[in-house]
Amino acid sequence: MKIRVAINGYGTIGKRVADAVSMQDDMEVVGVTKTKPDFEARIASKKFDLYLAKKDNAELFQKAGIETSGTLEDLLAKADIVVDCSPDKAGAENKKIYENFGMKAIFQGGEKKDVAEVSFNALANYDQAKGKRFVRVVSCNTTALSRLIYQLKTNFKIGRVRATILRRVADPKEDKKGLTNAIMPDPIALPSHHAKDVKTVIPDVDIVTTAFKLPTTLMHVHSLSIEMKEKVSREDVISVLENEPRILLVSEADGFTSTAKIIEFAREFRMRYDLFENVVWLESIAIDGNDLFVTQAVHQEAIVVPENIDAIRAIFGVEKKQSIEKTNRSLRIGEKNF
Ligand code: NAD
Repeated sequence: MKIRVAINGYGTIGKRVADAVSMQDDMEVVGVTKTKPDFEARIASKKFDLYLAKKDNAELFQKAGIETSGTLEDLLAKADIVVDCSPDKAGAENKKIYENFGMKAIFQGGEKKDVAEVSFNALANYDQAKGKRFVRVVSCNTTALSRLIYQLKTNFKIGRVRATILRRVADPKEDKKGLTNAIMPDPIALPSHHAKDVKTVIPDVDIVTTAFKLPTTLMHVHSLSIEMKEKVSREDVISVLENEPRILLVSEADGFTSTAKIIEFAREFRMRYDLFENVVWLESIAIDGNDLFVTQAVHQEAIVVPENIDAIRAIFGVEKKQSIEKTNRSLRIGEKNF
């Protein structure tokens, strides 16, 4: 029997999670919800059974000629689990409905950590989500930081982690948000919330983060310095990072000179130019005394998608290795055919 998945909120993350679920052989999408009858709802209705996120909007969908199969409650009645991909803080409101329905649910990183029993990253703490009812997949920045730190921490003795996060100001589709000609420290008073969020997944890491918003929509960039508490060579670090399929090493020598070039590459490589991996610049990996330096780029629209798939399997008790390998294979994570 396949796990029946409902997607509540079909925006940047929801549409990607829906497609990724339908690429798995052990789960299926039983329906997605939309709030408004726009072009995205029209496209969604061609691919999946479409339900109303807000039942009061039924007439609007009818007028627009977009067929729906019922309300969110009708959808939940058909599902084993709901992946909530609604905007920041809306998930906590939706949780009340899921509780009434006795549903299992996954929330996204825009929710506070106490929305769920566990904050989740597949590499770092998969087993903690096993058998749980409410799981929060952490944000794009926290996912990327957690993966990298986990991979280094399981292979080397590490100390302080200091990270500067250069954030894209908005997603490409967001025409109401922007920052035309400025760099905005976000927040100005240090530290940024990301370090605290990483600790929800890896509690025993000494991490401080600072963050800045930049006028770009393509990707985030993280500049990290990590104290190494043992003698480690640059080659050791490269080999450990190369070993993890969810980390993709790219080289300046190969033309990867900026996030623009990484996205141009991804446009040829993946549907919707989605990069599910941390993209680490090979030449940025450097050891100076006890410090390791590394720079990575993060495709914010895509990086949490594999984590959502693994979170579904963790909730249903599937083993970590089995789930991650299945997710990687289906989404072609770790393929190096370029
Ligand atoms: P989005 O605005 O692109 O999509 C949200 C969708 O939910 C929209 O289609 C909206 O119409 C719908 N919606 C609005 N209110 C709703 C409600 N009450 N119930 C159900 N659906 C509702 O947002 P997004 O970027 O996909 O973000 C979703 C979540 O994922 C947030 O928690 C966000 O923090 C997190 N996240 C976003 C990114 C990113 O870069 N976009 C990355 C990682 C995590």
